Amino acid sequence: DAEQAAYTSNHPRSRTLFGEAGNLFGRVPMTWMNMWTGGFPLYLDRATGNRVTDVDGHTYIDFALGDTGAMAGHSPAPTVAAVQRRMGELGGITTMLPTEDAQWVGADLTRRFGMPLWSFTLSATDANRWAIRLARLATGRPKVLVFAYCYHGSVDEAFALPGPEGKTESRPGNVAPPVDLDLTTRAVTWNDLDAVEKALAHGDVAAILTEPALTNIGIVPPEPGFMEGLRELATKYGALLMIDETHTFSTGWGGATRAWGLQPDIFVIGKSIGGGIPSGAYGITEDVARAVTRHTDAGEADIVDVGGVGGTLAGNALSTAAMRATLGEVLTEDAFAHMTELATAFTAGVQATLDELDVPWSINQLGARAEYRFARPAPTTGEASAAAADEELDAYMHLAMVNRGILMTPFHNMALMCPETSREDVDRHTAVFREVVGALFV
Ligand code: PLP
Repeated sequence: DAEQAAYTSNHPRSRTLFGEAGNLFGRVPMTWMNMWTGGFPLYLDRATGNRVTDVDGHTYIDFALGDTGAMAGHSPAPTVAAVQRRMGELGGITTMLPTEDAQWVGADLTRRFGMPLWSFTLSATDANRWAIRLARLATGRPKVLVFAYCYHGSVDEAFALPGPEGKTESRPGNVAPPVDLDLTTRAVTWNDLDAVEKALAHGDVAAILTEPALTNIGIVPPEPGFMEGLRELATKYGALLMIDETHTFSTGWGGATRAWGLQPDIFVIGKSIGGGIPSGAYGITEDVARAVTRHTDAGEADIVDVGGVGGTLAGNALSTAAMRATLGEVLTEDAFAHMTELATAFTAGVQATLDELDVPWSINQLGARAEYRFARPAPTTGEASAAAADEELDAYMHLAMVNRGILMTPFHNMALMCPETSREDVDRHTAVFREVVGALFV
């Protein structure tokens, strides 16, 4: 209550703006913070690097970073320069023709993640939707296998939970899916290879769609052998393995795919790669390309030409310029080394408080990213991690942090480092975390 009162009295301008907005805004992302900030969101005025300033003049250390959309930091200088040049001097943002930037980005994605063929989209959601279609086309099968409490964007098929008698159910919050999700999806428990095998044995799964670790319900890492098991089972049962690294790109320069030697058939990424400009991409192997190619004789090479999979604004010149600058100059190997070192310090700082006060919470780290849960030991399934959720605690932690100048992603309690995050920022978090958790566990 004290935190709520402080938040309300310290943010009069945000409060007024929200009062004026009435019902103008949809929930995500405009008003989603209301659940944790008691009624009105922070309205932002400006953001640079890892700092955001609200309309009431408070500046925050930003560990939320647009829920990964700003892993490159806010308005990174090389990205801003490239976007300005494209907007001004070069012009031509939506032409439906490729640019050299697009070519460069495709080659860079191949260097990082290994897939030889890439398509651009405007978001990770888009990329997942289109990639699911390709998987259906390549295999002639209808269903996608997903894990309970995964999140892959507003993708109907993926927002599902295991139901009774092996059926799949729509997850609460999946607003009006067009069909019974039991027709499109098999949902099973994360880290349960037996359940995966049983689901695949029906022979109707086009692709396993997964992150290398669940990241939207806290970080729930794969148990040893789980990712390898998925690869083996996918191959054994003729399904494709589709890996979504939109969040787990935090693992390193080439994501978990490179760091752990994963071998997806389809690879999906979005959010951070455009440095804040809407961007996404998916890559496929030569085998998948062959399976979906209409054999158009275009001289030397056949063309991967899938009608109905694409978008007018996808890979527009603003997005490709932003991706080239962001990948080439901001999210470099050195940047990942710096970010990972800081996330390790962040995790150690949280763990020190948990140990000192004997708090039954846990924290997991994935490269530049750390997330904590109100459970100890750390849950190993989506269901267990969901059961550890606590709206009241979430709201307390989020508000207490905001009131002390720190922004985190609420509900999965995520902190992400960007190239501008400093050791002082992490130490500040460690001190604030000790203070606000100390107030709960005296
Ligand atoms: N994939 C993963 C793993 C995500 O966590 C998200 C969003 O949180 C998405 C895809 C969808 O991203 P977007 O909402 O930017 O389309």
